[in-house]
Amino acid sequence: MATPRKVIIIGSGPAGYTAAIYAARANLAPLMINGVQAGGQLMLTTHVENYPGFVDPVLGPELMETMRKQAERFGTDMLGEDVIEVDFTRRPFVVRTADAAFEGQTIVIATGATARMLGLPSETLLIGHGVSTCATCDGFFFKDQDVVVVGGGDSALEEALYLARLVRSVAVVHRRDTLRASKIMQDRAFANPKISFVWKSEVVDILDPAGGKVTGVVLRDVVTGARSERRADGVFVAIGHLPNTAIFRGQVDLLPSGYVRVEPGTTRTSVPGVFAAGDAQDSVFRQAVTAAGTGCMAALEAERWLEAQHLG
Ligand code: NAP
Repeated sequence: MATPRKVIIIGSGPAGYTAAIYAARANLAPLMINGVQAGGQLMLTTHVENYPGFVDPVLGPELMETMRKQAERFGTDMLGEDVIEVDFTRRPFVVRTADAAFEGQTIVIATGATARMLGLPSETLLIGHGVSTCATCDGFFFKDQDVVVVGGGDSALEEALYLARLVRSVAVVHRRDTLRASKIMQDRAFANPKISFVWKSEVVDILDPAGGKVTGVVLRDVVTGARSERRADGVFVAIGHLPNTAIFRGQVDLLPSGYVRVEPGTTRTSVPGVFAAGDAQDSVFRQAVTAAGTGCMAALEAERWLEAQHLG
């Protein structure tokens, strides 16, 4: 194995790139193992209008490319492979890809989360073109239009309530006739005149991939099997997120939901020297800018930890 790295960053969304920029500027020559599909959830987004610093909308992939170049400019080494295994029980820590193993004095986990999707081909074709997994990010594009939200949990109702401030109507499509969401969220949604519910129904297709934009959904009544079409300008899939933390199970403490447990107000995990940033440890805000913020925190905490161990 080569000389241990001071900092190894695993993952490459806004959290990973920001950690890399800060660590590289602190002369820590970080290694970033950014995965085969680098860039995180913003790679599936078209226009980003809420990331500070851009007067005009920036495309998600373009924003990630800019962050990557900024991290490289200060001397981050990038490796386009997936981490398949880690060993945080020994020091330096060990991080393995299919082809190699690396040692790191500190680790920043920035592997993000993946929005659960319905699994429809039309959904894949229209993501970023009317299909979204983030109302805060994309709701503004549907001002005074009609949208569908899929799901029956707190996320679905939170998305519906947020969207109701902007759009003309929100139809929440849920596969059962009772919601999983908390009582308070249900009360708010039921009281909102812009929000209606389509019960015991599944979205089985999204129209119209050939036209390159969303014009409606095909619904299937789960009891009768009957199919119907509903006009819509946008579809928000809100059926939960899965943090990308499987490789860390048994290595750092995870919450029952799978998110990495960090000490409140820090990025410190249960293993000293291992830090977690971005959506891998955040089930609440899930924004590019909050991910970038915690990426910065993780790099600063790693730097301070190295100094305290006389490894800096
Ligand atoms: P969740 O509670 O797991 O709910 C997922 C919803 O999506 C469920 O209603 C589920 O239906 C539905 N669903 C799952 N797979 C589906 C599929 N393939 N097709 C159609 N529907 C599908 O996830 P979440 O809403 O993201 O919440 C996750 C956690 O974060 C929860 O603990 C929640 O309380 C918390 N949270 C809290 C807040 C808040 O307090 N403001 C906001 C967001 C999230 P079924 O009900 O039939 O299973």
